[in-house]
Amino acid sequence: MSGNSAVGGVDNTHRRKFDLEEYAEKARERERKEEEVARKSKSKGPPVQRKPLKHRDYEVDLESRLGKTQVVTPIAPLSQQAGYFCSVCECVVKDSANYLDHINGKKHQRALGMSMRVERASLEQVQSRFEKLKKRKTDVPFTEQDLDERILKQQQEEEERKRQRRERKKEKKKEKVEDEEIEIDPDVAAMMGFGGFGSSKK
Ligand SMILES: [Zn+2]
Repeated sequence: MSGNSAVGGVDNTHRRKFDLEEYAEKARERERKEEEVARKSKSKGPPVQRKPLKHRDYEVDLESRLGKTQVVTPIAPLSQQAGYFCSVCECVVKDSANYLDHINGKKHQRALGMSMRVERASLEQVQSRFEKLKKRKTDVPFTEQDLDERILKQQQEEEERKRQRRERKKEKKKEKVEDEEIEIDPDVAAMMGFGGFGSSKK
C-alpha cells in the first residue's frame, strides 16, 4: 500500500489539477469557435448597401386612439396592447414621444431598408425647392392688411364666445334658483308660514 498518509483523508490534488486543465482547454476551444464565427460573418458577401434617409410620405397618427377606452389583456396580440404598435418592427412603444423616437431611430429605419445617412442635396434640388416655395407664396397673397383683418376677426370671435359663456352662466344660475324654489317641501313651506307661491299672492 503506498498511501498510509492518505488514509483518513482524500487526496484530491490530482483531481483539482485535472479540472483546471480541462477548463483551460474548454476556454481555448470556445475562443477558437468565437473567432471562427466572427470571421465567417465578416466574409459573408459584400455589406448590404442601405438607401439613404428619405422623408416620410405619410402623416404620423398619434391621436386617433386618444381618449378611447380599450380592454387590454396580456395575451392580446401586440397590435392591441396598450401603447403604440410598430407594424414594421412588431413592437409596442409606451407613449407618443417614444414612438416618434422609435420611428426616427436606427433600428426602425434599418428595418425599412434605410441607413441613417442623409443624401447630399444637389444644386438643382435646392433650386427647385426654392422655386416651389416661391410659387406657394405667390399663390396665396398675404399682406399686412390681411393680418390686421385676421386679428380683428379673431378678437371679435373671442368677444362673442365670452358673451355666450356669460349668457350661459346667467341662464344656469337662474335655472338653479328656480329649481330650488320649486323643490321646497310643502310641509316645510307650511311650517315656515307660507303655503306655496300661487296661494300667497292675492
Ligand atoms: Zn419600428
